[in-house]
Amino acid sequence: MNMSPPQETALTPAARARAWLADNLTGRLRTDRAHDTPATLAELIAFEKALHEAGFAGITWPTAYAGHGLGLREHLEINREIGRAPAPNSVNSIGKELAGPIILAVGNDSQKERYLPAILKMQDIWCQGFSEPGAGSDLAALRTRAERMSEGWRINGQKIWTSGASKSQRCLLLARTGAAEERHKGLVLFAVPMDTPGIDVREIRSIDGQRSFCEVFFNDVIVSDADMLGAPDEGWAAATRVLSIERATNRMYRSWRFQSELEHLIAACRTDARATAIMQPYARQLAQVRIDIEMLKGLVETLIGRLMAGHEIGPNGSFPKLYWSEAHQRFARIAWEIVSQFPPGVEGPLRDLHARMADIYLSSRAETIYAGTTEIQLDIIAKRILNLKKAA
Ligand SMILES: Cc1cc2nc3c(=O)[nH]c(=O)nc-3n(C[C@H](O)[C@H](O)[C@H](O)COP(=O)(O)OP(=O)(O)OC[C@H]3O[C@@H](n4cnc5c(N)ncnc54)[C@H](O)[C@@H]3O)c2cc1C
Repeated sequence: MNMSPPQETALTPAARARAWLADNLTGRLRTDRAHDTPATLAELIAFEKALHEAGFAGITWPTAYAGHGLGLREHLEINREIGRAPAPNSVNSIGKELAGPIILAVGNDSQKERYLPAILKMQDIWCQGFSEPGAGSDLAALRTRAERMSEGWRINGQKIWTSGASKSQRCLLLARTGAAEERHKGLVLFAVPMDTPGIDVREIRSIDGQRSFCEVFFNDVIVSDADMLGAPDEGWAAATRVLSIERATNRMYRSWRFQSELEHLIAACRTDARATAIMQPYARQLAQVRIDIEMLKGLVETLIGRLMAGHEIGPNGSFPKLYWSEAHQRFARIAWEIVSQFPPGVEGPLRDLHARMADIYLSSRAETIYAGTTEIQLDIIAKRILNLKKAA
């Protein structure tokens, strides 16, 4: 007989995250409820600050930079819980999931100290200044110029589709030091403070009524050497690394969020006989969605396994990006078809569902475009994984 005193069982990171989200994800923060007025930026920032303080953001970042020093396995476990909860998307995902990892990879110690804690504490929101009017899929065609000066750089050019620029404190900016014809050569990455004189941000209203997109103009903007990330010619390597992170590990919770959206659709329809009857003819299509979700989870988990074994993401980032965006867009179309047959003025669970699926349908239209379009992902897989020539 074991006479030793009972051990206090420590909660796993996933169990802690589940309990924390149950207590803190309330009111207007919940995306599974219809809200007459959406959560404010200040509320979203406060939520994400608390998420970090509780240990659920910056999970793998070093403790020296306000991270929590855990491994990718814990990161995945916590993100599964974040995905299962109806939490809002981060207003600082560029900072936490693109700029942060790249700063950890190519930044110097002083840059890590200056930028990283400010991202996790939500003092600095970041935007990504890559795309230009003539350079989207063909990013190497970008024309924004960075001219060397005695101390620092002078930037001139225009960016477009810069998500969240009007509420950002820093921009992860890709510019070129040489001629546009040099393509991948002579590109340089900066962490530009958005209050630098000469930066002009103009919001663009999108179909969902949001004003997240911006055009950003740089007119003789002076940036110091201290805000250059890596060496002048390393910009392309750093940029492609940013993009492979964006395609693979960014919003790692997505497959689990996707599953919770499907479960919400089915559960809410079941609360009402008319909605159940509307959903019934879609049963096989919804079964296919469920299969897509399992495939996606497998892709994410395989990728995490590869990263934990010390491999780079590289072109493999195209698998989850392509599969998630296409599958989620298919789901969003089915869900919208179902909820748009509800009688006008539904209340309760059906009203909540209608509001959520309308948002998902509109935002899903962009999923096969941002972080590289479907055609570009297929080209990457054909060229870099199958070693085939690009289709004509
Ligand atoms: C919601 C959203 C948020 C975004 N946020 C940001 C951001 O924060 N920062 C940022 O820098 N950018 C951002 N973007 C821009 C995004 O990266 C670009 O829209 C994307 O890279 C496509 O570029 P483009 O719009 O110029 O289209 P184009 O490159 O002009 O493509 C138009 C069409 O042609 C196809 N095409 C292009 N080239 C090829 C080819 N070689 N072979 C086959 N087909 C091809 C494309 O697949 C697409 O269907 C965002 C976009 C969206 C929709």
